[in-house]
Amino acid sequence: MKLFSTNAFVIYIKKLNEADLLLTYITEDYGKITCFANNARKSRKRFLGKLEPAMLTRIKFYEKAGMTLDILYEADIVEDYKNVRKDIDIYLFLTKIAEVSRVLCQERDNNKNIFYLTRAIYKGLNHVGAKASSPDFSMTAILLKYEIYFISNLLKYTGISPNFSTCTVCSEKNADNKFYFSLKKGGVVCGSCANSGNNTGIRNLPVNFINLSNLMMESDLSIINKLVVKEELLRECSTFLEDFLSFHIGKRLKSFESL
Ligand SMILES: [Zn+2]
Repeated sequence: MKLFSTNAFVIYIKKLNEADLLLTYITEDYGKITCFANNARKSRKRFLGKLEPAMLTRIKFYEKAGMTLDILYEADIVEDYKNVRKDIDIYLFLTKIAEVSRVLCQERDNNKNIFYLTRAIYKGLNHVGAKASSPDFSMTAILLKYEIYFISNLLKYTGISPNFSTCTVCSEKNADNKFYFSLKKGGVVCGSCANSGNNTGIRNLPVNFINLSNLMMESDLSIINKLVVKEELLRECSTFLEDFLSFHIGKRLKSFESL
């Protein structure tokens, strides 16, 4: 039996019966993987307290002939983001991160950047959670920034970023970032193309959305602390990204409804 070992974040847990679990992970070395954890809820030594969301674990797993799923052998905690679990808003926000990852990432498509992005988000939020009680602190604004940062970068890493630079119909350059956006075409359209022909699903982009999204894709997460953007605009940007994702996936994600 060959054991594989990697750092991993749980993004989905499903109870199969009294004892067994199915766990989906974003891993550092194998991309997204789904493991079967036999007797997980009773094997205290190997698994107890180590299969929770909001912690980085070192997992060992193996492949079994005739089974498409990997088998989880053991898990150990590497980093525990305790503050994240103490704050209900952050915790709910993480369900969004997890659902988006689960839907967008392909099994075994190993892009280490996705793992590092996830880790940066958890570490950052753990820090936010620690100072959430200080005055003039807006958790809503912070979480919106995290969401825009996460989704923009994940779209880039999974190769489905919208085309913002040229009209998807006539290829004219979007020089002033004033073009409309077509959900159907997955990119911007110029004024004249938007007004000719069928313009269902064509909408305005939030002001400065392209600049904001580009900035977030070019910067590390510390940009979030420096960025001063009105909450209302952040909300419009996050709504746009959620609409884009929903259209791309073909359905509205559950976690988008609860916040
Ligand atoms: Zn055009």
